[in-house]
Amino acid sequence: MLLPDYHIHTARCGHAAGRMEEYIEHALALGLKEIGFADHIPMYWLQEGDRDPELAMPECDLGGYVAEVERQRELYPDITIRLGIEVDYIPGHENQARRILERHPFDYVLGSVHYVDGWGFDNPAYIHRYETCDLDELYRRYFKLVQQAAQSRLFDIIAHPDLVKKFDFKPTCDLQGLYDETARAFAEADVCAEVNTAGLRVPAGEIYPAEGFLRACRNNGVPVTMGSDAHLPNQVGHGFDRAMELLTRVGHIKIALFNERNIFFIIP
Ligand SMILES: [Zn+2]
Ligand SMILES: [Zn+2]
Repeated sequence: MLLPDYHIHTARCGHAAGRMEEYIEHALALGLKEIGFADHIPMYWLQEGDRDPELAMPECDLGGYVAEVERQRELYPDITIRLGIEVDYIPGHENQARRILERHPFDYVLGSVHYVDGWGFDNPAYIHRYETCDLDELYRRYFKLVQQAAQSRLFDIIAHPDLVKKFDFKPTCDLQGLYDETARAFAEADVCAEVNTAGLRVPAGEIYPAEGFLRACRNNGVPVTMGSDAHLPNQVGHGFDRAMELLTRVGHIKIALFNERNIFFIIP
């Protein structure tokens, strides 16, 4: 079965390359029936002057992004193209995010924790902070934020839900306990977990989330969506065979699709 890729970036975010058409052409070449663009939301929690143009599109570009996805739907009627967006979860700034999300007809919203108390922990530029941080405390804090993101009701899906493992710094604390607690929070908030294959391309070398996390999702009835987190056209659908193996091994997990923020499921 060819799974839809719901996590594709575009050059607008300042750190991905290739035209939207090239991502779609790659999806078509793989035989995908459905994809979704999910570029980074403008850095709404910072003043305009403090926003890094290499991390996300400027606010004035958001309308153009939406229009471009809509135009691609007309150009490529043979593939379903969803309008998604990847939104940083920043506690205390929920209303600002909500106001932006209300303005456009998104099919789904991916919520991401890329910052723990102001530290962009997944950014290689700040990797030195790992040398002095308490890893157990970092993991606990990260998963608390992921749970809070789910509870914010801003998002349909929580992206790469164990991103904190990206650079392969491992804690000593019991991760299964944190996975269970987090999957329960997802179930209560009715959000999906994203199975994101970008983890295969970083030092962690494994799909986000870990198998134990997915087992917790299965036990709590949490559905998943699929995403490559492509920042280059040839990354579309990357590692989906591995993701499918993982899902099969865990078993009994529903794969979700979205249309205008309504969920439905792939019938296997
Ligand atoms: Zn992300
Ligand atoms: Zn992403």
